[in-house]
Amino acid sequence: MSTDRNREFAGKTVLVTGAGKGIGLATARLMTERGAVVIALSRSKADLDALCAETGCRTIVADLGDANATRAAAQQAQPVDLLVNCAGIVELEPFLDTTVETFDRIMAVNVRAAMIVAQACARSMISRGAGGAIVNVSSVAAQVGTPLHAAYCASKAALDALTRVMAVELGVHGIRVNTVNPVVTLTPMAEKVWSEPEKSGPMLARIPLQRFVQPEEVARTIAYLLGSDSSMVNGVSLAVDGGFQAG
Ligand code: NAD
Repeated sequence: MSTDRNREFAGKTVLVTGAGKGIGLATARLMTERGAVVIALSRSKADLDALCAETGCRTIVADLGDANATRAAAQQAQPVDLLVNCAGIVELEPFLDTTVETFDRIMAVNVRAAMIVAQACARSMISRGAGGAIVNVSSVAAQVGTPLHAAYCASKAALDALTRVMAVELGVHGIRVNTVNPVVTLTPMAEKVWSEPEKSGPMLARIPLQRFVQPEEVARTIAYLLGSDSSMVNGVSLAVDGGFQAG
């Protein structure tokens, strides 16, 4: 029997954090197109209202910097079959001036929240015995030291490490866990960091494909890792970087 690849996720529920903007928004749209029921989680109600009007997705407003709010929101979303931990923040500070407050804020959203949300989802997946798939949205910053990004790079390296442990422990339950690791992707976050040509020029010069990533390109890679085409892919960090890390 042939399956309709365009509706690959029909009958599946996917929770997407950070779905209000950028990569999370593109992922929520793509997963809706491919048949999934999307639960979109973000801190901005206005963003989620717009997405809901467009796609009919379910929405949850929560601040993932708050551990208790994160746990409550993750439980509210259950049961889900698939999870995309996409919410993330960046703040630029030289290493010598990186404050404890900045470090803690970035680690809370980029790593701790991903763990809390994944725990709730994995518990539900295990109790239903149907397996599942989780994608954590990391970055090339997990592997490459980028000036002014000390806390951010640390958070993404931690997310990759967390992902490997999750892949090992949850794999036995049929739950696959992977990361996508994009280079600069044209989203509101990237505008904050890379809008000045003095910064974007040298970065672009290091990308063999000579352009930045579109959010939809990351979304399609996420969909690959969530779907049956990647059924034996578990515990990998998959670069979406036009060859940046190969150089
Ligand atoms: P973005 O800033 O454009 O969107 C981030 C989304 O996450 C927004 O909807 C925002 O409301 C939500 N969010 C942020 N903090 C939150 C919080 N405390 N609680 C709830 N929601 C919160 O970012 P983006 O560029 O789409 O990035 C998405 C992910 O991709 C992040 O994890 C980021 O680190 C990663 N990434 C981005 C790039 C890039 O160049 N844009 C490159 C590599 C990796």
